Amino acid sequence: MSEILHGLITRSQSGFYQVETEKGTFTCQLRGLLKRGRRLGDLVAVGDRVSITPLRQGTGIIVRVEERQRLLARQAPLPQGSYQQIIIANPELVVLVFACAQPEPRYGMLDRFLVIAEKQAIPALIIANKADLVGEQAAHELYDHYLPLGYGLLVTSVKTGLGLAELRQRLSGKISVFAGPSGVGKSSLLNALLPGLDLAAQSVSRSTRKGRHTTVVRELYPLAEGGYVADTPGLKALALWDIQPEELDAYFPELKRHVAACQFSDCTHVHEPGCAVLKALEAGEIHPLRYRSYRRIRLGEEE
Ligand code: GDP
Ligand code: ZN
Repeated sequence: MSEILHGLITRSQSGFYQVETEKGTFTCQLRGLLKRGRRLGDLVAVGDRVSITPLRQGTGIIVRVEERQRLLARQAPLPQGSYQQIIIANPELVVLVFACAQPEPRYGMLDRFLVIAEKQAIPALIIANKADLVGEQAAHELYDHYLPLGYGLLVTSVKTGLGLAELRQRLSGKISVFAGPSGVGKSSLLNALLPGLDLAAQSVSRSTRKGRHTTVVRELYPLAEGGYVADTPGLKALALWDIQPEELDAYFPELKRHVAACQFSDCTHVHEPGCAVLKALEAGEIHPLRYRSYRRIRLGEEE
């Protein structure tokens, strides 16, 4: 009986997977048996917990993939049917980086990201970066309406260091995935968290990947405090996939709680009489910016 080790896939490259175990790091391939049968999706991805059989010189074979707790994935339509492409397995936190200014807050995009986090049941932490440009209080005014919805919020400045210690604390021990529009300071934040890793230097290779649909995570970067962070290579990495218009209200926590009281069970909450969501909006119980995002997504409008 050969030895079995358990580990985490922290890197993937052309069919080779780097697996971190208690006995060190192994470069592994998938056992042939796992590859049999009809493929409806990626078999393994960064973030998967696996069992391996070590071979010589730091190599090994992945013999088993543990059941995934969570998943960030997209359905890729292929001629032979839909294929599930895994962006990252087992993410425990999605960190949505936005700015207070330069660029202005993009609530529409943030709300789209939050819908995905809700759909995949991944806790979200919103970062309001560049607080130094507007002041801490104004930063809170721009983003505090997300707090009662149950999302985490941290006001930060990479420039002054505000909030960075707390960010480290919140990431510690978890697998986190970062997303956000460009220019908000995502690379600056990651560089501050991962000294020695110059993400800006990789921006050239990142831009060459822009046109591609595949925006899967290739690598988890270990944090000094324990845990890992992953950067989604492009903005499109977290577009709105696979969300049916009828299920959208379930991914807005503050809308969801009113839906049962709507007069029509198929209420779209856009124009119907007896709509409890519209009533709550009028009563000031739903933030107008959040409702605006709901409406735009529901009606299929661009962000
Ligand atoms: P990314 O596109 O989101 O990765 O953003 P970058 O990390 O490349 O940052 C974009 C620009 O914003 C750079 O010029 C950074 O120096 C600047 N920047 C990043 N964080 C802050 C901050 O907290 N405050 C200010 N004033 N500028 C920042
Ligand atoms: Zn309604």
